[in-house]
Amino acid sequence: MLDFSENVSLKPFNTLALDTRAHYFASLKSTAELAEALAFADGKKLPALMIGGGSNLVLASDFEGVVLHNALRGIEFEVQGDEVLLTAAAGENWHHLVMLCLGKGYYGLQNLALIPGLVGAAPIQNIGAYGVELVSLFESLRGWDCEAKEFRQLNAGQCQFGYRDSIFKHTLKGRFYITEVTLRLSTRPTISIGYRALRQKLFELGLEEPTPQQVAEAVMAIRRSKLPDPAELPNAGSFFKNPLISKKQFDSLIPHYPAMVHYPQDDGRVKLAAGWLLEKAGWKGRQMGRVGMHTEQAIVLVNYGAGSGAEVLSLAAQIQQDIKDKFGIALEIEPSIY
Ligand code: FAD
Ligand code: NAP
Repeated sequence: MLDFSENVSLKPFNTLALDTRAHYFASLKSTAELAEALAFADGKKLPALMIGGGSNLVLASDFEGVVLHNALRGIEFEVQGDEVLLTAAAGENWHHLVMLCLGKGYYGLQNLALIPGLVGAAPIQNIGAYGVELVSLFESLRGWDCEAKEFRQLNAGQCQFGYRDSIFKHTLKGRFYITEVTLRLSTRPTISIGYRALRQKLFELGLEEPTPQQVAEAVMAIRRSKLPDPAELPNAGSFFKNPLISKKQFDSLIPHYPAMVHYPQDDGRVKLAAGWLLEKAGWKGRQMGRVGMHTEQAIVLVNYGAGSGAEVLSLAAQIQQDIKDKFGIALEIEPSIY
């Protein structure tokens, strides 16, 4: 029988360290326990919320339902010629998985080193960093569909991956629980170092033809030097998505802001750096009550102490309004809000 705790503080389970409470809380170690927990929530007519590492959510208020902490474990490899199919349970730690694969000589994940959180959440926003997105390695996933009331396997097309986006943030939000993810890696070193900051770091290290391990080490070094560690300064990483705007809107902005950081996309749109917009608008290092925007990375919202979900959302709303007023751009919050 699964053990449900009541009135549990979620502070240790979210990297923004928001001290909200779950009416019921259970840690799931098997798919049978997932079924039991969902039946429990159904029986009490309460909503359920699956959380992993809590590094991409804002627990804005107490959750009057059943919080399911993902503790499903297990990793399997299937070598197929010079490719490897890796299947990992949703509760495995993402970064540990990246390092395990590198150690075994299975390549492709190195640019995604040191991203916090668990495997099951990686497809939710198609995690990406330093020029690589999960979708480029993704084979399939498996999970419980609460509406169809069955386990389903979804391929990349069915997951509708986009820029920090997928079907799990839309049609399947709150209705699909990912239990395992399968990725296709390579035994041949695959290197992607087109991302400027990464290329520059490797150049500084004298590594112009790096191994995948060296790429991972460079990524980790950049991340440690730039990003606040949630264990020391609670945060949820980038708080806003980089906006994708039309070429027309870009053409109207660039004469006013010639130094504006921008990246033309294949579909004709232009990606702007949300961090640049925030810095330009004066938000870098600005503190409002117990929360604020980080002094080194304007895009990272930090909790300086006992900040509340309401303070976080109020700061975010003020920023969104200011960026709209100054640039005509609607910034979208990246973490999921509950
Ligand atoms: P959680 O925060 O626990 O959950 C996020 C969402 O997914 C919630 O809606 C939750 O309900 C849902 N969910 C979680 N698990 C499941 C499941 N098994 N089935 C269904 N739904 C589920 N992200 C990037 O893309 N790139 C980065 O480089 C990056 N760097 C970061 C750096 C820092 C310092 C921090 C704090 C965050 C960073 N992030 C980054 C954001 C975050 O780490 C990732 O999005 C990560 O994949 C979230 O994993 P998690 O287990 O913590 O998810
Ligand atoms: P950065 O290197 O200072 O660059 C700022 C922004 O410019 C990034 O967000 C990145 O977009 C974009 N960019 C840079 N070079 C690019 C290129 N060659 N082509 C297209 N876009 C480019 O960014 P950072 O804040 O230090 O983050 C480094 C990487 O880690 C980024 O990929 C970022 O997404 C990732 N990261 C994500 C989170 C999160 O919570 N989501 C947190 C920390 C870091 P992209 O974001 O699209 O790559």
